[in-house]
Amino acid sequence: MRDEPPTPEVARGETLTPETARDRVLAEVVPLGAEPVRLEDCLGRVTAAEVKSAIALQPFDNSAMDGYALRAADTGGDGARLRLVGESRAGHPAEVAVGEGEAIWISTGAMVPAGADAVLPVEDTSEAEGSAPPDGSGGNQRFVLPARLARQGENIRQAGEDVEPGQVLIPAGRQLRAAEVAVLAAAGVAEIECAQRPRVAILGSGDELIPPGQPLAPGQIHDSNTYALTALAREAGAEVACVTHLPDDPAATRQALGAVLSPELHQIFHPADRKFDAVRPSDVLIVAGGVSVGRHDHVKGALADLGVEERFWRVAMRPGGPTWFGVLPREGGRPTLVFGLPGNPVSAMVTFHLFAKPALRALIGLDPNTGRTQATLATTYRKKPGKAHFLRCRLELVDSGWRAHLTRETQGSHILTSMLSADALAEIPPDADVVPTEAQVAVEIWN
Ligand code: AMP
Ligand code: MG
Repeated sequence: MRDEPPTPEVARGETLTPETARDRVLAEVVPLGAEPVRLEDCLGRVTAAEVKSAIALQPFDNSAMDGYALRAADTGGDGARLRLVGESRAGHPAEVAVGEGEAIWISTGAMVPAGADAVLPVEDTSEAEGSAPPDGSGGNQRFVLPARLARQGENIRQAGEDVEPGQVLIPAGRQLRAAEVAVLAAAGVAEIECAQRPRVAILGSGDELIPPGQPLAPGQIHDSNTYALTALAREAGAEVACVTHLPDDPAATRQALGAVLSPELHQIFHPADRKFDAVRPSDVLIVAGGVSVGRHDHVKGALADLGVEERFWRVAMRPGGPTWFGVLPREGGRPTLVFGLPGNPVSAMVTFHLFAKPALRALIGLDPNTGRTQATLATTYRKKPGKAHFLRCRLELVDSGWRAHLTRETQGSHILTSMLSADALAEIPPDADVVPTEAQVAVEIWN
C-alpha cells in the first residue's frame, strides 16, 4: 500500500545517488577468511592467496612430434644413416643415450634422451634394415635415413618453457575458470586456498506470495523474487540459505528475521537440495518486499528492533528507489550486511546487481566493479529529471561500438520479461530529461 502520507523518514535519502549508496555498502564489507578447496571443486571460487608452481612446465625436455631423437649434426651429408638404438615412449624414457651416428624412436610427449639435440618428424625420414648387429643380440639392425637436415633444438619442448619452478601461476583474488583449473592441474596443485563463500539468506515478504508449482487463488502471485535472488546470489559466488517467506504480520516478520539473524546455529533451508541444515549465521541477509512505507510493510521496523543499524533508505533511482541497507554489528566478528530490496521483481534484480552483488564480490576478495562500458542508445528516452534510470538493454556490436536496444518499450518494474534478453543496464543520469537516439550512455554489463 502506498496510501499513507509521506513521513519525514520517506524524504530522507531521496537524493542519495546509486554511486554513493554503493560506496556506503562497500564501506561495511569485511572480507571473508580462506579455506582449502579441492581442485575438482574450485571452479568459480576465488583464490585467497597466490598460487606458485612447485615444478617446471614442461617438467622435462620432450618431443613435440612422433619421430626420431638424434644429433642434428649427424643428419648432414649424402646418405646419412643413423643406427636405431632404442625407444622413448610417453611415460617410458629410453634407457640409453643417443651417441654419434645414432637415433632413438620417440613419441610425442616422450622424454628427449640424453645426447639428442633434435627430433626429426617421422614424415621427414625413412627406415632401412641392415644386417644383424655385431653384439649378437639377434634381429636385424634398423636404420633411419633423414630426408633433410635437422635443426638443433627442432621439435623439442624445453623444460621450464611454460612455467619455471617457483613461478606465480595465479595471483590472489582471481576467480578460477577452466583455464586456471587446467594450469593448476598441470602444475600438480590438488588443493587451493580460496575465499570462503558468503552465506546469504534470502527472504521474500508478502501474504500474496505462493511458491511456483501451486495454483493461484484470486489476489495471489507466484513468488519469483526468492528464486531470482537465489540464482543471482549463486551466480555471484555465494552459498544460499533461503528462508522463503515472511507473512505481512509484524510479529511473524520479527520472529523470522530474528531467527535468521540469530548468532546461534539455526535451521536453514537449501532449496536446491531440498534439505534443512544447521549453519552459522549468514554474512548477508536479503529481504525482498515489505520494506517500503505501506501499512503492511513491517521489515524495517523489525530490523530496527533487532539492532540492525540503517545505513541508507531510498536511492534516487528507478527502478529500485525504495532500497534499504543496514548492518548488524557482531561483537568480535564480521557484521551481517542487510539489504531490504524493493518487492517489484525487476527492482529486486536491478538493486541486487547494483548493491548486493558488489558486496558479495568484495567479501570474496574480487573487484566489486562488474563491467561498465559506453553504448549509443537506439531509441529516444524521456524521463523526469531527478532520478537515475536503469534501462534493460540488449547490446549489439556495430561499427562505432556498442548500441543499446531497450528489451521492452515498457520498462515498468513489474515487467519481469524485460530482463529476459537484457545484457546490460543503461544508466540515464539523474538530471537528464530527453535522451535522444544515438546519445552515448554508460552501460553496466549484466553478467
Ligand atoms: P512490496 O515491496 O512488498 O510492497 O511489494 C511490491 C510489489 O512487488 C508488489 O506488487 C508485490 O506483490 C511484489 N512482490 C513482492 N515480493 C515478491 C516476490 N517475492 N515475488 C514476486 N513479486 C513480489
Ligand atoms: Mg508486500
